[in-house]
Amino acid sequence: MNADIIIVGSGIVGMSLALSLSKENKKIIIIEKNLNASKKINRVYSISEKTKFFFEDIDVWRSIKEVNNIDGMFIYYRKYSEKNLLSFTKKESNKNIGYIAQSKNIVQELMKKIEKDEKITFIDNCEVELIEDNKKNIKVLTNTDVKITASYLFSCEGSKSSIKRSLGIKNIYDDYASQALVFNIAHEIPNKNKAYQIFLESGPVAFLPVSSNSFSMVISVKNEKYDEKNFCEDSILKFIKDITNNSFGKISLSSKINTFKLIGYDSETYKSGKVLFVGDSAHSVHPLAGMGLNLGISDIIEIRDTLQKSSYKFENQNFFSGYARKQKIVNKNARQQLKLIEILYSFENKLAGSVIRAAMSNLQGMQYIKEKIIKHANNNLSFF
Ligand SMILES: Cc1cc2nc3c(=O)[nH]c(=O)nc-3n(C[C@H](O)[C@H](O)[C@H](O)COP(=O)(O)OP(=O)(O)OC[C@H]3O[C@@H](n4cnc5c(N)ncnc54)[C@H](O)[C@@H]3O)c2cc1C
Repeated sequence: MNADIIIVGSGIVGMSLALSLSKENKKIIIIEKNLNASKKINRVYSISEKTKFFFEDIDVWRSIKEVNNIDGMFIYYRKYSEKNLLSFTKKESNKNIGYIAQSKNIVQELMKKIEKDEKITFIDNCEVELIEDNKKNIKVLTNTDVKITASYLFSCEGSKSSIKRSLGIKNIYDDYASQALVFNIAHEIPNKNKAYQIFLESGPVAFLPVSSNSFSMVISVKNEKYDEKNFCEDSILKFIKDITNNSFGKISLSSKINTFKLIGYDSETYKSGKVLFVGDSAHSVHPLAGMGLNLGISDIIEIRDTLQKSSYKFENQNFFSGYARKQKIVNKNARQQLKLIEILYSFENKLAGSVIRAAMSNLQGMQYIKEKIIKHANNNLSFF
């Protein structure tokens, strides 16, 4: 089989990349290990304005079901009280704060478009066994004996990229020495589409409004503060009631609690010959700002812009070198910004606490700066 580009992995990043490349008239073959297993994971994503524009560009945004517009983001330091608040609201700034969508609904619409797209071939239950990169093109042999020749291979395999491992490419890690707990709750008192972030000594707790009476929760807990007894199904609801002064009335768990170790990383390189890394295959950040997927979409936008503007011929080895250099800087920068926020809010002494409270209180009155912060978040934390 022949194609312009092979995409390995059909998560949201792989599928979105395929649709974007198809719009640029490229012929694509997607190789996916196990679509059914991948579809079973349903995550709740916060989506920035830049990511929304991208989804509009590939014509999936208006069909994605149950998208919730965020009307405000409320950040608290240690205690859920007006004194410790920094807020960003759509009403005050006249700017969109962001959106909440579930991965199953995004995947459904991406898949529908891929099935109709004649330039995209989808091979499921298949893995790459051999890659031969002869500089002119790339040849792949799969474990199902399919032979494919293409100009490039994009690895969109997520955090456990086997291609990266086989090429001996390493990650540069940030160990946050924390656990993350992800689950959904139903609650009695409506959330008015507001997102909340409470920076506790144990780590940040995020509340993403999935609907007026449900939140997706991401609780980060430092290892030294993590005690399974306090963060199990029996005690987690009491923990949430306590930290919010019972502001949401009766609450109940509406999903299982998923616990995982929090690690951020950047691939030491985003390009090896004609193989490129995109999305979680190349980077991962702290979940405190819900940026993971948004950064992957920024990668795709850069690839699309390269196809539209590059002065190199498509077959040239250096065609995507600019992408690899620029996104490595952009994503490393994003990872460092989030790490800095996490470190600042983790300080445990009184002086640091007073400085942070004073800074938040000052910032609360500075509408111009707050609008700049919203703009930066909506640009997926990129300064470019
Ligand atoms: C619990 C949790 C909550 C999150 N919340 C948010 C959030 O609120 N906002 C946000 O922006 N981001 C969030 N993220 C990050 C976000 O999930 C990732 O950034 C995003 O899913 C990356 O997408 P991806 O397509 O690169 O990788 P993945 O979603 O991991 O997809 C990889 C795909 O590749 C396939 N694959 C893997 N290996 C192979 C192989 N060898 N051969 C073929 N196929 C293969 C897999 O089956 C899968 O289909 C969260 C992450 C986690 C874990």
